[in-house]
Amino acid sequence: MSFDSLGLNADILRAVAEQGYREPTPIQRQAIPVVLAGRDLLASAQTGTGKTAGFTLPLLQRLSEKPAARGRRPVRALILTPTRELAAQVGENVREYSQYLNMRSLVVFGGVSINPQMMKLRGGVDVLVATPGRLLDLAHQNAVDLSQVEILVLDEADRMLDMGFIHDIRRVLAKLPAKRQNLLFSATFSDEIKTLAEKLLTNPEQVEVARRNTASEQVSQQVHFVDKKRKRELLSLMIGRDNWQQVLVFTRTKHGANHLAEQLNKDGITAAAIHGNKSQGARTRALADFKSGSIRVLVATDIAARGLDIEELPHVVNYELPNVAEDYVHRIGRTGRAAATGAALSLVCVDEHKLLRDIERLLKREIPRIALEGFEPDPSIKAEPIQNGRQQQSRGQGQGRGQGRGQSGSGARPQGGSGQRPQGGSGARPQGEARRQGGNGQAAPAANSGRRRPAVKKSGNV
Ligand code: AMP
Repeated sequence: MSFDSLGLNADILRAVAEQGYREPTPIQRQAIPVVLAGRDLLASAQTGTGKTAGFTLPLLQRLSEKPAARGRRPVRALILTPTRELAAQVGENVREYSQYLNMRSLVVFGGVSINPQMMKLRGGVDVLVATPGRLLDLAHQNAVDLSQVEILVLDEADRMLDMGFIHDIRRVLAKLPAKRQNLLFSATFSDEIKTLAEKLLTNPEQVEVARRNTASEQVSQQVHFVDKKRKRELLSLMIGRDNWQQVLVFTRTKHGANHLAEQLNKDGITAAAIHGNKSQGARTRALADFKSGSIRVLVATDIAARGLDIEELPHVVNYELPNVAEDYVHRIGRTGRAAATGAALSLVCVDEHKLLRDIERLLKREIPRIALEGFEPDPSIKAEPIQNGRQQQSRGQGQGRGQGRGQSGSGARPQGGSGQRPQGGSGARPQGEARRQGGNGQAAPAANSGRRRPAVKKSGNV
């Protein structure tokens, strides 16, 4: 099936062809006709499925069918995303797909100055991509009029709820006209999502695409047992010996990320750290340098890595295992996408044996072991409790407005102290992504996303 048969106009098809897309993905095949028909849509699709084009292409077409009003253009389509990163990516897509249309789009999110956003809104915008917090800030300052919105998209609605945005979403909904088309995308369908969908959608068409293969099926995984003190040496050796050129390394803590990046640089391996204490500018730079190949290693904490959009990443290293087994799957999900195969290596010290067992229980299989001669663990070293990093949390933490707003409403705020966890697989993307830096030339940072989990401690150092 080709894009031509979906009913999209020539200007949109041209933009799509320029992206190199040859045929629509399953979500696009299903969603595009529904949206073009003006129906509400409840779509189950993860990042990586092509969902963004699935709603953006028909949305642009519908808007372009009705000419924009003269004078200042009101916002006619509003796309809400949970994170700056996603907002930036969606905004970039909108720009690309609408390049041959007479359509203005804008991305607004927190962490950057609000004034330029206000100025651009004043000039008139047809399609607004926004994180909820910043959108409300703009609305409170009367910088945005949402009363003419014809199409609303809630992208990654499950993450929005996880991040505590429900109240913000309600506030935004209250500013929209009652008559509009609503599109809700979510990777998962909890009761909360169903409740939201029931309230939001009118007689929706439901579309669903299969979950992507889990990373664990596509990624070659290995474990190397090694003493904590010798991890850096082993990592440097493997990077050098096997000539790894692009390696995403995970640590549990921000301090650990900084320290490791410094050490790798001393070893002659170019590296930078990316975590919640880094400024937006520093994160943007580190990510751009990593994507362009001017640094080989990006050392990241789980939360900072959450929104990283890196094409076909060949190597992921768990320098420290995550405290939460699911995070392992998210980490290695950053490699081995689509046609690419990836390799995930975990360096496991004696303290982490229990974490490894938890991960293997989750994967329902043992990860193959490798051992480089000379790096065998010293059997006399006893396990010590792991003090740092994200710990499991009680239900409800990280779910308040403050948490959610922080995502879009503050600058380089420390991330992750709230026990929010990455979720969903927005990791490396299948194609056409390496050049992406996010909207307005800003690479947005990783997202915090909360998810309920049992018990224990809070930690602010990831
Ligand atoms: P998304 O799920 O929207 O985040 O899209 C994931 C990636 O797939 C992005 O890099 C898109 O540029 C790419 N993509 C979207 N639609 C297609 C398509 N029909 N063919 C190939 N790549 C696509």
